[in-house]
Amino acid sequence: MSSSNELRHNWTKEELSTIYNKPLMELVYEAATVHRAWHKADEVQISTLLSVKTGGCPEDCAYCGQAARYHTGINVQALLPTETVIAYAQKAKNSGSSRFCMAAAWREVRDNRDFDRIIDMVREVNKLGLEVCCTLGMLSESQAQRLEEAGLYAYNHNLDTSEDYYDEIISTRKFDQRINTINNVRKAGITVCSGGIIGLGETHEDRISMLRTLANMEQHPDSVPINALARVKGTPLENNPKIDSWEMVRMIATARIVMPASMVRLSAGRIEMTESEQAWCFMAGANSIFTGERETLLVTPNPGVSEDMQMLSTLGLKPMPIARSAND
Ligand code: SF4
Repeated sequence: MSSSNELRHNWTKEELSTIYNKPLMELVYEAATVHRAWHKADEVQISTLLSVKTGGCPEDCAYCGQAARYHTGINVQALLPTETVIAYAQKAKNSGSSRFCMAAAWREVRDNRDFDRIIDMVREVNKLGLEVCCTLGMLSESQAQRLEEAGLYAYNHNLDTSEDYYDEIISTRKFDQRINTINNVRKAGITVCSGGIIGLGETHEDRISMLRTLANMEQHPDSVPINALARVKGTPLENNPKIDSWEMVRMIATARIVMPASMVRLSAGRIEMTESEQAWCFMAGANSIFTGERETLLVTPNPGVSEDMQMLSTLGLKPMPIARSAND
């Protein structure tokens, strides 16, 4: 059913639940089939994520080590100089990355000098021929337009979790505000990167509901990051149980089936997975990974670039060339 050439945007809760709850081997087989129909299954996009402004965030996302209100001991860092960011981007390109994502721990973008500097960074990284991505918090339509004019290729804004569970995780903004920012990004003609996190204490129904929200968007997100909670000491969720890798495989496979053209990103939580577990995620349809500068994914550990390249080689996979990921 799902390897047809049609993208669907009207998934029912029952349909999604039936896919999500399939016996795992069946689910992975179906997802792998869809993956092969829509993508080059031997290619994995390497995206590098750099925190350009770290910590001190006024929001209260219960999973996040960068929220100022939690005592996580991270090094708070003001916006990096543009030259430093460009040097990191060049290094990422030299190491095989085709996408460079700049993250700032802000609640929202403000029209100030820091945003002017982000615009400069986007312009300069774009000149390197990389897909430039930002994640800067909430964004207005006019700010999205400025980013697009500077050459921004993608904007990341995750749903995080289901609409029903959202208030349990974040109280300082609403689910609708997430959707609003995603709509502003779309209107500006920037590709959308939006997914979520599992391991926050949500139910399977919440996971299904989150995937359904993404899959029923008028246009599927071009990239769908699936994260496992990275348990950060000092955050309210530090003692949550570790997510079993099979749960990641199940999420990835379901996302692959219902959003066949999208890039599905195996994101945070990889450090706690073996190579074999990651291989299952690739088989289930993940075709992108994040590598982080200084071997961190924002403020949590992540495998290093060379380790990742070795893993891809072992699995017979190769880095995706630049500018191959626009879908939908
Ligand atoms: S996830 Fe983003 S918005 Fe939430 S506290 Fe962390 S940096 Fe702030």
